[in-house]
Amino acid sequence: MHDETKKTGKPDLTKTDADWRQKLTAHQFHVLREKGTERAFSGQYWDLKDEGSYHCAACGETLFLSETKYDSGSGWPSFYQPAGSDCVKEVADHSHGMIRTEVICSNCESHLGHVFPDGPPETGLRYCINSASLDFDGKAGKE
Ligand code: FE
Repeated sequence: MHDETKKTGKPDLTKTDADWRQKLTAHQFHVLREKGTERAFSGQYWDLKDEGSYHCAACGETLFLSETKYDSGSGWPSFYQPAGSDCVKEVADHSHGMIRTEVICSNCESHLGHVFPDGPPETGLRYCINSASLDFDGKAGKE
């Protein structure tokens, strides 16, 4: 993947761990800033079917749209594509004895989850994202 990140708004790359700890819950900090993974079926969004957009819980960047969310059966929110071509970055991840592709927010580089090549026909991709990394913004009642 390319490293040319389009900086929309203000990038959050200057925040320190102390700043992030102030802004995030301990669980969010662990997932977003320490590349943690929430337990399957434990997050608040894996089964959410409402219409709306999913934003980075750390910086607010729009990351995924409900139109591309599907039920993967994994217990984590799953999407077949990001909201835009440059809102997430993909990074090789060789941790835990596996070869995976990590997905991070392109704006603040917080950990979101992983992408796997076993998604639905639309793209063949499964973006497997922690609920803790997301903030859902529902369309209902906004108009
Ligand atoms: Fe972010």
